[in-house]
Amino acid sequence: MAESTSSPTPVPKVNDDIPSFKAHLANSNRIIAIIGAGLSAASGVATFRDKTSPWATYDSFMISSPAGWKRDPGLVWQFYSSRRREALLAKPNAAHYALVDLAKRKEGFTALSQNVDGLLERAGLEIRDHDGKSAGEENNSGQLIRLHGDLFSLVCAGGCGYVEHDNVDDPVYGCRVLAEEAIKERMARVHILGADMDLGKKPPKVSALLFEGIALKNKRILGEEKFREANPTVGDAKSLRDVQDRKGKNEEIGKEVGAKGGGETLALHSGIDKSELPQCPGCKKDLLRPGVVWFGESISEKIILETDEILDKSDGIDLCVVIGTSSQVWPAAGFCERARAKGARVAWVNTRIEDCKSRREDDWVFLGDAGEVVARILEP
Ligand SMILES: [Zn+2]
Repeated sequence: MAESTSSPTPVPKVNDDIPSFKAHLANSNRIIAIIGAGLSAASGVATFRDKTSPWATYDSFMISSPAGWKRDPGLVWQFYSSRRREALLAKPNAAHYALVDLAKRKEGFTALSQNVDGLLERAGLEIRDHDGKSAGEENNSGQLIRLHGDLFSLVCAGGCGYVEHDNVDDPVYGCRVLAEEAIKERMARVHILGADMDLGKKPPKVSALLFEGIALKNKRILGEEKFREANPTVGDAKSLRDVQDRKGKNEEIGKEVGAKGGGETLALHSGIDKSELPQCPGCKKDLLRPGVVWFGESISEKIILETDEILDKSDGIDLCVVIGTSSQVWPAAGFCERARAKGARVAWVNTRIEDCKSRREDDWVFLGDAGEVVARILEP
């Protein structure tokens, strides 16, 4: 028989001792930092799943995957135009500068960053690039490896090999449909519905793909003549809500969107023709796309070789600092364990202890906003 016990769950011990971390840091030269979105949060760059972003109503796969691109490249470009604009308006924070400063002090430092916002580069960290294919010029002594590419590189979507670096034009290639106003206008229409769905304490988690599925189902039930569009409508959205409670509100929304009997389509498709998007100057046949790694895509072989060199072929690693990234998500988890295997002690910087899943008892854990914490712990 199991003994009944009332002892509370033990609180995991956290080693947040800055002096011992600094002492270890001072004696370390071979240092790696595994960096995620948390580093740029203090700069105002939204994390990918930021609930406050109007793009949060979209499936990640619709706006950031090869399948999404195939379905609607205009929508993908509008999303990335917004991200480019956001990153351009942001400024590197104290943590970015602290890492650049560390890189200057420690020759054996390398940052493995999942961020695509260009803020570490703007703070002054040089990109490691053996053949000049990632950053435009060869740089064997660079201390930044960009695992997921960057927002300001453009590549041919058809694979002709055309690459453009440091394109900070807004809108990209002067495309009118990617201008801020065009995107805002479209998002405002989507947002009318989104705002309504957030009513109530527990809004239904509804993805745009689900809307589309519902629309297709309605089309099958109603027949082609009665259902004019395959796109979801305000009427479709209505069926997802408690109609009794929100009848008046729904009618109001219908008016606002300009719906005629719920027939107005919601702007889940961009409606943008390919001819209006950035064209590849190399082959003149395909579109240009952002030079980032999408969901469902793998990190380039070149980057994998460069990280292997840092993590596996080095004599040893003294310290691994994991900043603003959930350790459950590849590649952070794998990199951290590989660094441990090379002798590294590990320090975590995160807002949530839950995100430091693979931490061990003698790791350091510094909880808080990376923008502030990193600068404090790296200060010489
Ligand atoms: Zn091309």
